[in-house]
Amino acid sequence: MLDARVPQGPIEQQWDKCRFDMKLVNPANRRKYNIIVVGSGLAGAAAAATLGQQGYHVQCFSYHDTPRRAHSIAAQGGINAAKNYRNDGDSIFRLFYDTVKGGDFRSREANVYRLAQISLNIIDQCVAQGVPFAREYGGLLDTRSFGGVQVQRTFYARGQTGQQLLLGAYQALEEQLATGSVTMHIRQELLDVVIVDGKARGIVTRDLVTGNIQCHAADVVVLATGGYSNVFYLSTNAKACNCTAIWRAHRRGALFANPCFTQIHPTCIPVSSEHQSKLTLMSESLRNDGRVWAPKKKGETRPPNDIPETERDYYLERRYPSFGNLVPRDVASRNAKEVCDEGRGVGPGGQGVYLDFADAITRLGLQTVREKYGNLFDIYERITGEDAYTVPMRIYPALHYTMGGLWVDYHLMSNIPGLFVAGEANFSDHGANRLGASALMQGLADGYFVLPATVPDYLATAKLEPVDVSNPAFATVKDDVGQRIEKLLSINGTRSPDSFHKELGKLMWDECGMARSEAGLRKAAARVPELREEFWHNLRIVGGGEELNQSLEKANRISDFLELAELMCIDALDRAESCGGHFRVESQTPEGEAKRDDANFSHSSAWEWKGEGHPPTLHKEPLTFEYVHLAQRSYK
Ligand SMILES: Cc1cc2nc3c(=O)[nH]c(=O)nc-3n(C[C@H](O)[C@H](O)[C@H](O)COP(=O)(O)OP(=O)(O)OC[C@H]3O[C@@H](n4cnc5c(N)ncnc54)[C@H](O)[C@@H]3O)c2cc1C
Repeated sequence: MLDARVPQGPIEQQWDKCRFDMKLVNPANRRKYNIIVVGSGLAGAAAAATLGQQGYHVQCFSYHDTPRRAHSIAAQGGINAAKNYRNDGDSIFRLFYDTVKGGDFRSREANVYRLAQISLNIIDQCVAQGVPFAREYGGLLDTRSFGGVQVQRTFYARGQTGQQLLLGAYQALEEQLATGSVTMHIRQELLDVVIVDGKARGIVTRDLVTGNIQCHAADVVVLATGGYSNVFYLSTNAKACNCTAIWRAHRRGALFANPCFTQIHPTCIPVSSEHQSKLTLMSESLRNDGRVWAPKKKGETRPPNDIPETERDYYLERRYPSFGNLVPRDVASRNAKEVCDEGRGVGPGGQGVYLDFADAITRLGLQTVREKYGNLFDIYERITGEDAYTVPMRIYPALHYTMGGLWVDYHLMSNIPGLFVAGEANFSDHGANRLGASALMQGLADGYFVLPATVPDYLATAKLEPVDVSNPAFATVKDDVGQRIEKLLSINGTRSPDSFHKELGKLMWDECGMARSEAGLRKAAARVPELREEFWHNLRIVGGGEELNQSLEKANRISDFLELAELMCIDALDRAESCGGHFRVESQTPEGEAKRDDANFSHSSAWEWKGEGHPPTLHKEPLTFEYVHLAQRSYK
């Protein structure tokens, strides 16, 4: 039975109670402890800097050449916080309510409430660091709306919010690097986790420049290694994002929760060619002012500006009058797909709908629109060659975020004692659909506020025997890592790593993407192992293992995607309901909306690895909704 360790008592007092009940480590004793933080994106950098500041010895690892390169830098639109600066009815409870409802009642209430509470501290923290949030004329912090809510609670720094927040976290990290409390290991990729006496006690890494495989011991291991959208090959994530860290931890016993909960973002630049390897997001913030529409006529060929108003279908405003263009992502994505499936899509292959700023420009003026969204329009023009100030943007849904990840309890600890998981890498707060601008909030809440309270409690209460890399467990894991690399290099087949990845991605998009059916999932669940088999017999990697070898890096990561993909299909098959980003075609309302099955699926599914060739075991964490009552989501 999974114990989420949710504190007793009224929800608004749980975090305070938990913090008071947790044990502290005396400042003089903190330097005796070693903490490994893998990842230096927002979650990892925030955790490493804060734990370093507390006085612990922190070793932070990243496969990037600098923490500033972490994928968090790509976040465009903003970060939520229930500050209610606008006085438009926001509150901690409303952010909590919106998030539970937005996640289609598949998240843990206690975690979400804490997230909403901490959101207030995050903005203060970041402002104190000097993060240049957008301000109104009078100097107050500005906010805007994101999908699934009716207040303006999203703080932003133009279209570069992630970058500015990451620079704030990076500065805090740099300060600790200078004091010596944190040591940064760049271009080191975690390839396995070392468990000693049932506790996480270290990691094994590969130096991406020299190929050197090394062991690192610690008292606690934190994984803040981001999401796994790239299992779909085409996604808005940075090309290097991968699942290796969490997957290898899973293979060592960490439960993987809700792997099929993936988020498809409605406003991405449509795929333009078969040779494309990356997709680009147009931030959801654009839906504040842009209006989504498609031609009423099937097979329309006229340019958008020649289509009269009466022949346009502003389908989100028509179907969801309350929320209009700001419905949550899952709803907006499914509607775009439906419109395109009906033959009303626009652009190459009919895989697109319009996002039109003509009204906003008339209402606000060109200059204001440019100030708010200029860099996004520039990105769009650079990629498509079109000027979105004069011609509507074309957008289509694309893979963007993963709500699934390693199962964690209220303390953000996995089922392996001493293995904590933060940011997008864990499964915790967003349920079956994340609301826009809530990932940055969660990553920073985890890194700046939750882990700095829960990790010390673990250190103060766990009985930790001295362990260093001479412990035989390290040699065994290091051997395993070395053998896997050797095996990859020795196959000498004919297919490139990318060709496998592309085939896997297409299969997952077709069968485990925006809409999933039992038949399609069965097909994919059967095909993935075949593809994996071929991978291990017909892969070709050029170059060797003791040098910078990106072909080897990719292959190693793809070998994990090939295992994770199967678990995603198994999880999606098992969850025979629709909820949020998981849309089973067999389970929909008469209006085509996701139909949950609360009687059978009000739980998080946490899967246990049982070894290659053996089916995983399902553990269920029951979800109860005491404060936000279960209801069919409606944005009408
Ligand atoms: C285009 C785009 C725009 C977005 N915009 C927004 C937005 O406006 N608002 C919002 O709330 N969210 C947004 N998101 C989501 C949000 O950016 C991410 O969920 C969040 O930044 C993830 O942060 P993280 O710290 O968990 O992981 P990441 O930033 O991905 O960092 C992962 C870190 O782990 C390291 N790492 C990973 N694996 C290993 C390994 N095996 N060994 C060593 N190091 C490893 C990496 O080097 C990196 O340092 C956006 C996402 C995308 C793709």
